[in-house]
Amino acid sequence: MKLPRPLSHSSISLYNECPQKYKFKYIDKIPERPKHFFSFGQSVHLALEFFYAATRSQAPSLGELLAHYKEIWVKPGYKDKLQEAEYFAEGTRILTEFHAKHAPRYHVPFFVEYAFDFEVEGVPVTGRIDRVDKLPDGRLSVLDYKTGKKLATGRLDADAQLTMYQLACERLLGAEVGELVFYHLPTLKEHRTGRRPQALVSELSARITTTAAAIEAERFDPTPSEGVCRWCDYKPICPFFKDQAAGGPPAPAKAVGEPELAALVDQYGAALAAAADAERRAQALGRELAAALRAKGYARAFGASYEVSLTPAAKWEFSDKKKVLEIIKSAGAYERVLAPSAPLVHKLIDDAATDPTLRARLTELGERVDSPQLAVKPL
Ligand code: SF4
Repeated sequence: MKLPRPLSHSSISLYNECPQKYKFKYIDKIPERPKHFFSFGQSVHLALEFFYAATRSQAPSLGELLAHYKEIWVKPGYKDKLQEAEYFAEGTRILTEFHAKHAPRYHVPFFVEYAFDFEVEGVPVTGRIDRVDKLPDGRLSVLDYKTGKKLATGRLDADAQLTMYQLACERLLGAEVGELVFYHLPTLKEHRTGRRPQALVSELSARITTTAAAIEAERFDPTPSEGVCRWCDYKPICPFFKDQAAGGPPAPAKAVGEPELAALVDQYGAALAAAADAERRAQALGRELAAALRAKGYARAFGASYEVSLTPAAKWEFSDKKKVLEIIKSAGAYERVLAPSAPLVHKLIDDAATDPTLRARLTELGERVDSPQLAVKPL
């Protein structure tokens, strides 16, 4: 088959993460669910594109920048209004600080959102670079904005995305790249590294051509892994999990096509969510009630169906629990604060370092019963 579209850094990464996932996304064209972190990143990127718009010679005012941010805010993917409001406020903070830092020394970048297309050994490659600046010596500074909370700076010297940007700029803009920059927006820190050596550029070229050859040969076997499958939107239709459910060892059951099981899954998830909501609400009401009783000086109050009494009590809170345990141990009082619990006894039995005689004596006293654990999360 022909490549369905030019390769980009993200599609190459996706193929190498799981070829089946690549097929779902780019060949079967099944869209993934919107993700709030992508929407947030897109919103901040669009606002910075406005800040550095090629048509302006000076920075927009903070008010103009924030008004534009509000206008282009990308909404899909947020869990609820509260989460959306938190991210919107975080974006406002980032843009306000970015404006304070960069507006006074505003410069017109060489390129903003530079879209490139070229070929590597006949394989079409595409991408978009957040910003390209000219250094005083005429070479280029290539910047990629990052909006994630944490930035893995360990990959700065070998990150394939920046290598691809260097390759694109040097091929298409005719100038040497002097530095590559990850700009971590939440902390306004610019992490710089020098231009990539030829060995890394050749490694990237080989990765591009081998990925293209594998796609053209229609190699789309799933390569499951806990870390990737856990967040994969295609899991309910993934052949790997379907095969597992058909008769292999215990595996995640697929509810699609099994309406009774799907209904049970949904009822269970909804019941747990309702219980968690009820618990949160009960705690909030309890705090409100205790405060009201204290304010009125009452020890007891009656509703139509319930009675509540308030017993004055205080508890100790310790910030340095390690130190507290050290002091207790040194005073020989450790046994007095320890209570055996079932999970700790299980751990002791399962621990390979436990004395076999102790394990035998404990297991003689107990009976091992099946206790499957259910994990549930919203789809
Ligand atoms: S569930 Fe796992 S194996 Fe299946 S497509 Fe997604 S990442 Fe690949």
